[in-house]
Amino acid sequence: MRWLSTRGGDEQSLSSAIAKGLASDGGLYVPERVPKLSLKRCETLAQTAEQLLAPYFEGDALAPRLSALCADAFSFGAPVRWLDSGSTFGLLEQFHGPTAAFKDFGARFLAGCLPTPATVLVATSGDTGAAVASAFHRRPGVRVVILYPDGRVSARQAHQLGAFGNNVRTFKVAGSFDDCQRMVKEVLADQELCRRLSLTSANSISLGRLLPQMASYAHAALQSEGPVSFVVPAGNLGNALACVMAREMGAPIGEVVLATNANRVLLEYFLSGTYRPRASVATLANAMDVGAPSNLERMRAMFPLVKLAVEVVEDEVIRRTIAETYQAYQVAVCPHTACGIEALRRMRAAGEKGRWLVAATAHPAKFETVVEPLIGAAVPVPPALAELLKRPSFAAPLSAETEALRALL
Ligand SMILES: *Cc1c(COP(=O)(O)O)cnc(C)c1O
Repeated sequence: MRWLSTRGGDEQSLSSAIAKGLASDGGLYVPERVPKLSLKRCETLAQTAEQLLAPYFEGDALAPRLSALCADAFSFGAPVRWLDSGSTFGLLEQFHGPTAAFKDFGARFLAGCLPTPATVLVATSGDTGAAVASAFHRRPGVRVVILYPDGRVSARQAHQLGAFGNNVRTFKVAGSFDDCQRMVKEVLADQELCRRLSLTSANSISLGRLLPQMASYAHAALQSEGPVSFVVPAGNLGNALACVMAREMGAPIGEVVLATNANRVLLEYFLSGTYRPRASVATLANAMDVGAPSNLERMRAMFPLVKLAVEVVEDEVIRRTIAETYQAYQVAVCPHTACGIEALRRMRAAGEKGRWLVAATAHPAKFETVVEPLIGAAVPVPPALAELLKRPSFAAPLSAETEALRALL
């Protein structure tokens, strides 16, 4: 299958589209078509992933490795936890990977697809950097350079980011996430430096991250009796776009509804059709603090007719939802997942019936300083995260200037 730029000026095979990241005309790669399959119910998530990805990999240099790539990236599952006896409300737990957020699936799949040697640059506001670092850690021929805004990620997130070592170098930047992202973008725009150091990025527009994210939705829907609808907490829109793709490919998925925090760009876009990107505002659900959702251009190009409902959830409602969910079900949820649960609560109040799953995008233990006081209990740390938190952690300071990053590379 060919991959075309959303801006019409570039065309690549799958493996080179994955290796390049951004199209040469500044657009995002989209498949020439989204194939419709009659999907079979599989035992493992890896098998479902392979079934969904096979048509996109057909004829590509990566095709012979697809099976192994899926087995490696999906070595842990995404179980469904129904919260009511009638199985009409549940969580799709996407956080069982090594860094306890759904980004582990995409980062690990991408790590298997990228050619070496490579130097992977990542600007992170928290979760992405750890998932990418974990996925590439100790891979031969790969260096990872992580930039995060000093003082603006949670203590556990900061510890995680600095805990890898070996081929991963972590820098705390004296600036904001936008500064980190600008530095990475400016360095990646230097073609000669990119060639010399085999620089690449692993941000949320990467196809290698987007495509595998279809799997958990399709797998959960195929296991269920009758169709399932999903609420997906959204920031850059990668996870939600993957859910829509899974549905369009034939997975028995009903509605897809987006939940956001106080960043309202997606709500405005789907209400009015006008896209007004802006600076993000900081919220408790920090992995969704996005003012310019990078996958929106791809969503519009691939599914121009798909309109999604969006629910905006403010911080005080996030807090209340975390507390109430624990009281009602004895389940601790992260602030991002709480946005999704609140979105569904509003729909139920408006008379919505049917079977719904909320994507639980991160483990609550990553946000323990928010969650624990609200539920009045400690959140047990999953083993892989505990392992990371036991390791020593180091991040070197870096000034928020592109020249400083260029010099260290
Ligand atoms: C990244 C992230 C999101 C947002 O996902 P997008 O694909 O950017 O929309 C939501 N929740 C958590 C925990 C995340 O890490």
